[in-house]
Amino acid sequence: MACQRHDKRVAILSYHKIGDPLPGGWKTWFYVPERTFLDHLNLLQESGWAALGLSEFLGGLTNPQNLPERAVVISFDDGYQSVREVAIPLLRRFGYPSVLFVPTDYIGGYNTFDDGVEPQEPLCDWNDLRELARAGVSIQSHGVSHRKFSELTVTEIEQELLRSKALLENNVGGSVEIMAFPYGDHGGNWHNIEQVLEKVGYQAACLYGGGLATFPGAARYRLPRLAMGADTDLARELGRL
Ligand SMILES: [Zn+2]
Repeated sequence: MACQRHDKRVAILSYHKIGDPLPGGWKTWFYVPERTFLDHLNLLQESGWAALGLSEFLGGLTNPQNLPERAVVISFDDGYQSVREVAIPLLRRFGYPSVLFVPTDYIGGYNTFDDGVEPQEPLCDWNDLRELARAGVSIQSHGVSHRKFSELTVTEIEQELLRSKALLENNVGGSVEIMAFPYGDHGGNWHNIEQVLEKVGYQAACLYGGGLATFPGAARYRLPRLAMGADTDLARELGRL
């Protein structure tokens, strides 16, 4: 599709782990080395992609004319300790905001939903999340149980969305307005899911993968993201549209 002159492009970067695996673990594609992450931030700064905070981005969904021509939203799924320890200090150096999508059942625990697939890594606890929120990181929903929505009934999906939002708002503060579907799995019936998201009070929802979002046009409850792994060529991805 040709890119119109008035189109606004937003790259929602989707990271998981930053830095090295813990002793006893192993490297997977989901570990982005610290040096690579720093290269990404330098690239964004040098190439003029504006890093948006969550409220600016959500405002832009309603009024795309307010979005910069080229913008980036930096997001992290699951809430790994490595993000708090390695990525957030680097982001702070650049003055870049970010969004953390956390599954509430696993706060303070481990990514046991990845058992047998990914090494076990500690996840931020409630104190960590409150500290991150005070430092300007937006803590948002990744559901409760990190299950695929296609394996849940609509009632269960509604509970995941309601409970995670209420828990985060009560225990971290701030408003939970956006979520990321676990595994990018939005469930079988778009119409139902969109209705539930709207009813529960979410303004937007993110898929996993799918490239850049273009506005006007991108649907707020099925936002594509750039899946960021160890070998992702960010410069190429940003140049693709
Ligand atoms: Zn996840």
